[in-house]
Amino acid sequence: MSGPGEYLPDRTEGTANPEDLPEARIVRRSRNYPNQSCPRCDRRCGRDRVFTRVLHDVGDLVAGRPRDIHLVYSQHHCTRCRKYFNADMSDYALPKAHYTHRVVSLAVRLVVEDGLPYQAASWHLWRDHRVFVPFATIQNWVEAGGKKGGPTNVDDLPRLGLG
Ligand SMILES: [Zn+2]
Repeated sequence: MSGPGEYLPDRTEGTANPEDLPEARIVRRSRNYPNQSCPRCDRRCGRDRVFTRVLHDVGDLVAGRPRDIHLVYSQHHCTRCRKYFNADMSDYALPKAHYTHRVVSLAVRLVVEDGLPYQAASWHLWRDHRVFVPFATIQNWVEAGGKKGGPTNVDDLPRLGLG
């Protein structure tokens, strides 16, 4: 007899290689603009190039698949400052990050608030949120948070706000 509390083992339990995980569902988002204001001098600057970055987000639990955001963004050149800058993507992720803010926030909470060891936090993120984060990456996030003045204040972490 099966009921709501029946134990169903996760088919992916013990999976170590990201290549063995189910294929990610791709979500396309855009921060691609013809013009943007220079963050230094406020001058309107035309688009110079277009790039795409991949951000691993919280996964799709219904389908059991990870979710990757393919974020297309424009790079602009300010002729006055002679600097390149990207369209603002700070609501999604930190510069150069491979994971969205909400993945980082979840991971740090598991360690700081729930006291999970890094490896257990990594497994929890996969099992319950369908996002694969190596435990060493979680460790880096927690330790980087700690450096900015005492213990990580999870309430200061950026919130969802994804469009
Ligand atoms: Zn400028």
